[in-house]
Amino acid sequence: MHSPTLQINTKRLLSTIAESSSIGSTANHGLHRLALTEEDRQVRHLFTQWLENEGLDVRIDDFGNIYGRREGRLKEAPPIVMGSHLDSQPQGGRYDGVLGVLTALEVIRVLNEYHIETEYPVEIVNFTNEEGARFSPPMLGSGGVTGNFSKDFIYNIQDRDGITFSEALKDIDYVGETSNRLEEISAYIELHIEQGPVLSNKGKSLGVVEGIQGMTWVNVSVEGKSNHAGSTPMDDRTDALVCAGQMIGKIKELTQEIKGLKTTVGRLDVSPNTANVVPGRVDFSIDIRHEDNEIRQHALQRLKEQLSSTSFIHGTEVIIHSLWNSDTIEFSPTIRNAIKTSADELDLPSLSLYSGAGHDSKYMHSMGETGMIFLPSERGISHNEDEFTHDDDIEKGARVLLQTLLKLDTTI
Ligand SMILES: [Zn+2]
Repeated sequence: MHSPTLQINTKRLLSTIAESSSIGSTANHGLHRLALTEEDRQVRHLFTQWLENEGLDVRIDDFGNIYGRREGRLKEAPPIVMGSHLDSQPQGGRYDGVLGVLTALEVIRVLNEYHIETEYPVEIVNFTNEEGARFSPPMLGSGGVTGNFSKDFIYNIQDRDGITFSEALKDIDYVGETSNRLEEISAYIELHIEQGPVLSNKGKSLGVVEGIQGMTWVNVSVEGKSNHAGSTPMDDRTDALVCAGQMIGKIKELTQEIKGLKTTVGRLDVSPNTANVVPGRVDFSIDIRHEDNEIRQHALQRLKEQLSSTSFIHGTEVIIHSLWNSDTIEFSPTIRNAIKTSADELDLPSLSLYSGAGHDSKYMHSMGETGMIFLPSERGISHNEDEFTHDDDIEKGARVLLQTLLKLDTTI
């Protein structure tokens, strides 16, 4: 058994975080460190030095993902992996992703300091382009290594200046070997900020993440008749925007009927979009989220019925087109339980919740047992320079990560 006196060195952890966020720091205490840029190259360089200082075996794969490996007693067993990403959004925050990588580094430092030999090999990972801010879609490094995206697809994605992922990876000199990819895991644990207000509002320092909430995207086209605003009598109009306005009201009302449902109409295109013409056509999007896949499908059905009847009343034509659907992911019960028990043993109150945002864990889940620890984001602010997580909470998170790793090491 491991000694319970293992201590996270909070001062060392916080100064490591501060040093890393000096690369790409903004005037307002944020972070601007887009994937595969000069800032990303510099932080990767610093990170690999830190890994080497800890005696880890460093390797880089063909997506630029960086791994540091610490051997365990079971030489052939797949590793327990911890990590996240070091890239940021434009003018983003200094906690998103960074905490997951650097708390993992602190855990490794503690294992070294106390000369702990684990059963399983332990690896730390920094995934490339999690944010998707420079190369879209997001989570390319984890998506690539888990086979959710092909190498061809990833290599040919271009940024706004027409530079491909593969050129950018070459430019910063981080093209590694395909044979270095992570292929199998015993477990993957990612510590991350919540990026929402739940933990902060409830005064909890730790979240045990149940899974990642599913979502469905729908496009709605409402066809009316465009006509002159002055000469068309009010009772002789088929105004697509008036109809769409009522539909949007109904979409919001449905969230009162179905508990936990979130609906958002974030995009609206009006045609011809001119002050003196009755709108002839409106296209809008609906983002529908619920952690229960069946309830989300039921909500979609109810929305379709309501939009059709609203369209009938207004005499418009409506076309409802499903764009895509991503089902809810449930994280490993073993890992969720290990996180919860670790928090309990350390006397740290935790809360179970779903993630509203996507993370590298979403794809790692397809490789093996995966789980996440959430830390509070002050006022729920994220992807913004005002993103903030208290030092105290970072310390608690690192302690739970360490404890969870040790627990999994002896139980999986
Ligand atoms: Zn992130």
